Amino acid sequence: MERGIKEAIRPYMALVLLLINLVVDFEVLSKYCHECSLAAKDLGEGSPEFLIWKSGHSEKCMKNFDGSSGSMEMHAAYIVWNRSIFDCAMRYTTILCDGDAKTHQHLNEKKVYGDDVAIEKSVIRPRS
Ligand SMILES: [Zn+2]
Repeated sequence: MERGIKEAIRPYMALVLLLINLVVDFEVLSKYCHECSLAAKDLGEGSPEFLIWKSGHSEKCMKNFDGSSGSMEMHAAYIVWNRSIFDCAMRYTTILCDGDAKTHQHLNEKKVYGDDVAIEKSVIRPRS
């Protein structure tokens, strides 16, 4: 149970790094907002007071993801890949993975750069 709670509040960042160690883009996703948690505890989640507070808080809320913890990486990568052309005027053609191919597969299924462009995968192996 504790592991599930920690995973729920751990934000996920997708980082795009070039070989010169320049961060080009990143996305932070979180399933938790501390202010919402405190307000729900103090005002009562679902109470009229909480709903009024929540409507004024929505632009500052840190919770920006409702999916499963396992899908956070795929979702963050899709956001970064999808905006790369408009925001950075370039395409990310290779993804570095730790062996889990879900994100790589997701990007190719979404065809972020169209039908003709496949994202390549480069696997990072841990040192033994
Ligand atoms: Zn919040």
